[in-house]
Amino acid sequence: MWKYSILMAIVLATTPSLAQDTAPLVNRVLTAEEQAALTPDEVLRMLREGNQRFVSGTVTSRDHSAQVRHAAEGQFPKAVILSCVDSRVPVEDVFDRGIGDVFVARIAGNFENTDILGSMEFATKVSGAKVVLVMGHKDCGAVKAAIDGAELGNITEMLTNIQPAVDSLSGYDGDKTGSNSEFVQMVTKKNVQLTMADIRERSPILKEMEAKGKIRVVGALYDMKTGKIEFLD
Ligand SMILES: [Zn+2]
Repeated sequence: MWKYSILMAIVLATTPSLAQDTAPLVNRVLTAEEQAALTPDEVLRMLREGNQRFVSGTVTSRDHSAQVRHAAEGQFPKAVILSCVDSRVPVEDVFDRGIGDVFVARIAGNFENTDILGSMEFATKVSGAKVVLVMGHKDCGAVKAAIDGAELGNITEMLTNIQPAVDSLSGYDGDKTGSNSEFVQMVTKKNVQLTMADIRERSPILKEMEAKGKIRVVGALYDMKTGKIEFLD
């Protein structure tokens, strides 16, 4: 009889219940070995697929409070994402990622500076992330403010970081104001590209890791109307 009980216990423990299909996912964080086995291209594919799930509304249901406890022991995330502070760009959500999955740095206009570069070097060189993703978004208020030369407190100096993208499009024929959405999108894309170039130029660590194929530096644009992310490579 006890043999039967043990057998039943094993069967019950290993048979997926019907409820399991809809139960919230309690992801444990990646282990160092699992993280090391991933390639930058695999991580990019995961991010793309996560965004497809977000767009189609088939996102993974997660038990965050259970995940928090699992994640407390350490972290080996897959990517570091630089995004704008815009409240309409929930970074983990748009990639359908949970706790312990990605590092996120946020600053208005998603440009890099010494602190952001240091954070990216920590995320990759120290913590093993495989992708550095610079993600701009459509209708960015910081980009519009830079285009229009807004001045207010510390915002004035902050916007000088986006100014090179505006200046690089001085040959644009149309209306060069923040109310011209075509021009705003062009500056937004240019700002992502210049930020990627600056990252490579100002961080020898990241540049070398990319040259050796250990990481990829990638750009992307998020569309708030559709939820879609367009990768710029
Ligand atoms: Zn923005």
